[in-house]
Amino acid sequence: MISVLEAKQHIIKHVKSPRVEEKLLSDALGFVLAETLLAEIDTPPFDNSAMDGYAFSYSKWDKKSALTVIGEVQAGSENSLKTGANEAIRIFTGAPVPPEVDTVIMLEKVERNADKITLLDENLKQGGNIRPKGSQTKKGDVALQKGQLVTPAGISYLAGMGYSKVKVFTKPKVSIIITGKELVKAGETLETGKIYESNGIGLTAGLRQLGIEPVSVAQVDDVSESIENAIESQLNSDIIILTGGVSVGNYDLVPAALEKCGVEKIFHKVKQKPGKPFYFGTTSNALIFALPGNPAAVMTCFYEYVVTAIDALMQKTHLKTLMLSLENDFNKKPGLTNFLKGKTTENGVKILDSQLSYMLNSFAIADCLITLDEDKTEYKKGDLVVVLMIA
Ligand code: AMP
Ligand code: MG
Repeated sequence: MISVLEAKQHIIKHVKSPRVEEKLLSDALGFVLAETLLAEIDTPPFDNSAMDGYAFSYSKWDKKSALTVIGEVQAGSENSLKTGANEAIRIFTGAPVPPEVDTVIMLEKVERNADKITLLDENLKQGGNIRPKGSQTKKGDVALQKGQLVTPAGISYLAGMGYSKVKVFTKPKVSIIITGKELVKAGETLETGKIYESNGIGLTAGLRQLGIEPVSVAQVDDVSESIENAIESQLNSDIIILTGGVSVGNYDLVPAALEKCGVEKIFHKVKQKPGKPFYFGTTSNALIFALPGNPAAVMTCFYEYVVTAIDALMQKTHLKTLMLSLENDFNKKPGLTNFLKGKTTENGVKILDSQLSYMLNSFAIADCLITLDEDKTEYKKGDLVVVLMIA
């Protein structure tokens, strides 16, 4: 059996090269740039006024007289009026600064009488209240680096430079295959021995949390042929997540079915709790995560492993990892890494009750998974632990 760290290293090693696609800028939110973008123009593209006020030539002003207002310039228009000594032009925010003008005084800092303004701003300096051409970006400068997450502000910034498309790392195509003869859908009668299927919808929601819609969610019986057919039909996906049927029971048919479909086993079983029977394999283009069916093991393996692979494919860290201080003592057996449902508090993180792999009552209110090391047995309040934020 391999350790959690080894399992993650294997997964990272087998992740395929990220694919790149061109997207409309308006659709690029939450993706990571696959190219370094250069400023296509100077921004601002021209000297413009930062204020509503009056524009004038500071050097031609005698520093004592009122200025005569000789015209106005609005945002979006042009004004080539030339100002002489002690002359000013009414100007609005964002309007291009007319030739020979080098200073703007705020509207609130003048007293106007007919066409005369008296300047009342003692702190006014030459060049004041003007946003110079190229003061944000100069044409050809790096605007955003490859690897940058596209944020709403980033989209606005790039749009301001005239960008309408960008290259980003693509979302993977993910398929889900649920196995288990005991599973019935919500709404159906729960006969003895049957349980409601919950992994499919839980994994779908987990993917949606990352902005990914699964390409298919299939449910099959514990019958080799059905499992094989389901796998075959999804082999063109980037990621296949299976649940159930990966441990050692007579009806745990998934590893053999995967082998029959040409999947290369990379590892089977990890020194962890929950999710010990976790299987990982690959084909030339797909990563296959076959997770033990217990619902808490499924969600844990999804957050700890599947998300790791999706992160690598999208070059994005979807979930934050923190070091937090434990709020309670905890004892565990040595030999297995424990992933525990936790809830962050003002001072750290609390380990919740109900940690068994078939239970979701604690998972449902958890906002994080706490990692407790394989070999450690005693944790004390105040110990620092690794915490993966899931909500
Ligand atoms: P398995 O890994 O197939 O041995 O399943 C382990 C446990 O998880 C069993 O108690 C199953 O009934 C349960 N289980 C498996 N798949 C699901 C599912 N999709 N939804 C809810 N429980 C499941
Ligand atoms: Mg089963």
